[in-house]
Amino acid sequence: MAAAVALAEKGIPVTLFESARQLGGRARGVVHQDTQLDNGQHLLLGCYKDTLSLIEQVGGNIEQDFLRLPLQLDLHGHFALQAPRLPAPLHLLAGLLRAQGLSWTERLSAARFMFALRQANFKLHGDMTVTELLDRYSQSDNLIQKLWEPLCIAALNTPAQIASAQVLLNVLRDALNQRRSDSDMLIPRIDFSALLPKRAANHVKKRGGHVLMSCGVENLLPHEHGMEIVTKRGSLFFSHVICATPPSAAARLLRPIAELSPVVELIDALQYQPIYTVYLQYPSHVRLPHAMLGLYQRFSQWLFDRGRIAGQQGLIASVISAEGLHQCLSRDELAQKVIAELRAEFDIIDLPLWQKVIAEKRATFACTPNLQRPKQQTPLPQLLLAGDYTDGDYPATLEGAVRSGLCCATQVMRFVPHHILPG
Ligand SMILES: Cc1cc2nc3c(=O)[nH]c(=O)nc-3n(C[C@H](O)[C@H](O)[C@H](O)COP(=O)(O)OP(=O)(O)OC[C@H]3O[C@@H](n4cnc5c(N)ncnc54)[C@H](O)[C@@H]3O)c2cc1C
Repeated sequence: MAAAVALAEKGIPVTLFESARQLGGRARGVVHQDTQLDNGQHLLLGCYKDTLSLIEQVGGNIEQDFLRLPLQLDLHGHFALQAPRLPAPLHLLAGLLRAQGLSWTERLSAARFMFALRQANFKLHGDMTVTELLDRYSQSDNLIQKLWEPLCIAALNTPAQIASAQVLLNVLRDALNQRRSDSDMLIPRIDFSALLPKRAANHVKKRGGHVLMSCGVENLLPHEHGMEIVTKRGSLFFSHVICATPPSAAARLLRPIAELSPVVELIDALQYQPIYTVYLQYPSHVRLPHAMLGLYQRFSQWLFDRGRIAGQQGLIASVISAEGLHQCLSRDELAQKVIAELRAEFDIIDLPLWQKVIAEKRATFACTPNLQRPKQQTPLPQLLLAGDYTDGDYPATLEGAVRSGLCCATQVMRFVPHHILPG
């Protein structure tokens, strides 16, 4: 979508093929029991500049479409960090020094760690796992369990023992280091399909582009000066193709093309991590103390009160990121665990009116140290790759996906004769 919008904006005719009946991919709206949900509760950071500008470019209004929370991490009753209204990075320093649930030594040790990372410009000499990095900086088990591990899983969707320290630092560099608002947490008030892809599709169509739904690409056939796209509805020829599918679908499409075997090898080597979201619709009077809060050493990692966020009273989303014991439970068993946790933590004695567990088993690639990701450019100049899994310094996130799309659009524009580009 990011690529399509950027190209359509320049007057380049774009056709977008979507295999599903709806837009959004891994960030899409889902309706259950007449209630608008997402396939998973998404959260953006203030530093996701390209995604936020794209949403604005296609007609969104960031302050209306999102609930904006200043940086805060609250593990109900066990840990609380709230960044005061100071310029970055002082806001984080003050937040760490005042954090509840840590000893004085731990607060100082966390602050010293952040200071050392800043001094090093958030750049490691060699990548390593997050656990190894935390070990080097003598972060205590308590600090790791309450602060760094939840942060790592939230940012990279990969457990600290196997997660890339450098990629985590890339996110910390952008979120914590420059402007205070970069670390703001933005929670969508509307479903994700409405927030971005539907608006983007309209934007593209208004500029002469086409959006073909339920029209999966079955084959990509390279020609000397372009590429043929084969779908069930027939074939079409284009000067350039940006393949913006999830990695497994990209591998399927690229595998028959001999020149692309090194790219396919990289995609085949990716491993994946799940994200589960348990939605519970309670009677409308049920509320959590905050719009978003974490639980310590429970199945539920983060809870979102959709009543406080979007007026969906009584609707609670429990997010469980990365691999773990929850994968051994059936959906019903997992929902029962979450219900029991809500009862134990918040005395919620009501039973939910309904529950819905959405398991995205391949939510993101596992973001491990020194991971080689395929570049946007391929050995075929007429074929580019976009998506959160392609080369970049971010983990699998909306921002990573948008940046890759913009990079592809820039590459395509280099081939378009200048006399047909407006302005
Ligand atoms: C549950 C969950 C929670 C998440 N939470 C967050 C979060 O809080 N913050 C964050 O930044 N990121 C989050 N992510 C990650 C984020 O959603 C993804 O990084 C992002 O959506 C990836 O976008 P993409 O365009 O690369 O791929 P996708 O969203 O997977 O889009 C690929 C599209 O290609 C289509 N397609 C597939 N095959 C074909 C074909 N043959 N022909 C045509 N079309 C095809 C698919 O239908 C899909 O629409 C989350 C992901 C999940 C699953």
